[in-house]
Amino acid sequence: MSAAESERILVVGGGIAGLWTALELARKGRELTVLERDPPPPEASADEAFKSWERKGVGHLRHSHAFLARLHILIRDHYPDLMRELLDAGCREIGFSDNLPIALKDRYKAVPGDKDMTILTSRRTTLEYILRRYAGRQQNIRFETGTLVRDVLTEKTADGTLRVTGVKAERNGETKDWLADIVIDAAGKNSQIIDWLNERGAGITEEAERAGILYFTRHYRLRDGVDEPARTKVPGAGDLGFIKYGLFPADNGCFSITLAVPEIEMELRRAIVRPETFDAICAQLPGIAQWTSGETSDPVSRVFGMGELISRWRHMTKDGSPRVLNFFPIGDSVIRTNPLYGRGCSFAGVAAEGLAEILDRTNDMRERARLYHACLAKELRQHYDDMVKQDLAAAKRARNALDPDYKPGVKARLIKSFAEDAILPAIRGDVELLRAFMRSFHMVDPPNTWLRDPRNVSKVLTTWARGKKRNADLYPPKLGPGRREMLTSLGLSPTADSERLKSA
Ligand SMILES: Cc1cc2nc3c(=O)[nH]c(=O)nc-3n(C[C@H](O)[C@H](O)[C@H](O)COP(=O)(O)OP(=O)(O)OC[C@H]3O[C@@H](n4cnc5c(N)ncnc54)[C@H](O)[C@@H]3O)c2cc1C
Repeated sequence: MSAAESERILVVGGGIAGLWTALELARKGRELTVLERDPPPPEASADEAFKSWERKGVGHLRHSHAFLARLHILIRDHYPDLMRELLDAGCREIGFSDNLPIALKDRYKAVPGDKDMTILTSRRTTLEYILRRYAGRQQNIRFETGTLVRDVLTEKTADGTLRVTGVKAERNGETKDWLADIVIDAAGKNSQIIDWLNERGAGITEEAERAGILYFTRHYRLRDGVDEPARTKVPGAGDLGFIKYGLFPADNGCFSITLAVPEIEMELRRAIVRPETFDAICAQLPGIAQWTSGETSDPVSRVFGMGELISRWRHMTKDGSPRVLNFFPIGDSVIRTNPLYGRGCSFAGVAAEGLAEILDRTNDMRERARLYHACLAKELRQHYDDMVKQDLAAAKRARNALDPDYKPGVKARLIKSFAEDAILPAIRGDVELLRAFMRSFHMVDPPNTWLRDPRNVSKVLTTWARGKKRNADLYPPKLGPGRREMLTSLGLSPTADSERLKSA
């Protein structure tokens, strides 16, 4: 056994990032221990995992989840047997051609790269249950459940840099030191390890922006003998400004609906947690109404809500020098993203793949830290920046929508028109453009790569120049009612939030 292979590795947290990291390291022949505060999943079935898996450590476990193509590729190429287990358990692959606007379906001809744009979707409990079961069968991964990490163990190197040497964890009321050569922090968005390191002078800084939305999810099951409604011209996901909505087909006859509401919409966000309000909204969204109608499905959960959503990037190096050695935060503990983009799990997968490769490349602890954080920056930073930019613009639009005196300037009108009258109709009318656009969405290409190709720019500008009338067929159908109409129908005041903002 080489020195590197005999390194003692601790992974704190056995959620999505912890599981990917464990699998990627185990694939390279390393042994490791995962310390997880929550109990393992029930053995029985995906339905049982949804119903009874207790996960105090993951507040968003029962929110809609889908894995983008970037993560689908990783599973497909590294773990074909895991992919089979996921599909056998009812997880679904939704390919590029499945989501084509109906007008493009006849003209569509598959090209090899289209297979690289497949989403994997199901209830998150199913995805995680199968992943966990698969990881649990690997000889070199040991799970210590019911083990809550309470502190981190450190020492200082000769030059004063902090080096992590293990963690202190509690189990059944007893506290134990777990010593390690490498500690991986996969304890999620509420991980405290970086706070503990900062209390010891690590000086880790972060940048954060509010995602600007709240997330609301409800689960449904198709009635016996009823098939999923056929796709129509109205998509199952859309943005009305005051609500963004998404339909997530899931495993075993289940699906979920997520409604995201701007933080500023106080009336709506207070009311939407009531199941009858949630369902009344769904009934008015043509892309969803048929799914949630009582003839098609029954609701099988309450409305889960989630706020305090932020995007956050933690800086683990300063001027290229690591703040802490032998310590690798991964997943939400180091980079948090707005759930709306469905990128968090893919970010974790990309980071896990990078970390496993870097630990093999060098034994030098400073070089490892430097390479790991350079890898995160190279692979993920552009996607993060693009997301934050879009979120800030969406929050601004939501604020403006509540201001009756708001008059957009020339620049704002031009940007809106470019998005709505150039990009949108162009990609809805051209398979090649849509394909190029979706590659960035799936993180297969860096953001906006497609707009750097002069041929694509020319197509978009030509569409814009043709004007609304001649592009009429390329616009999406009406996605739902306007804000005033929706709020009034729900018995809510459409002006209360504007008045509150005015008097603030
Ligand atoms: C509402 C919502 C919807 C989302 N939808 C999507 C989506 O569709 N697609 C997508 O890719 N991403 C999505 N995300 C993001 C994704 O869920 C996260 O990025 C992902 O869960 C991060 O994985 P993680 O392992 O870092 O954290 P988690 O999955 O939260 O796992 C952390 C683990 O650490 C354990 N733990 C915590 N503290 C300790 C401790 N002290 N000791 C021991 N164990 C501990 C927890 O029990 C848990 O098992 C969504 C996020 C939210 C909030």
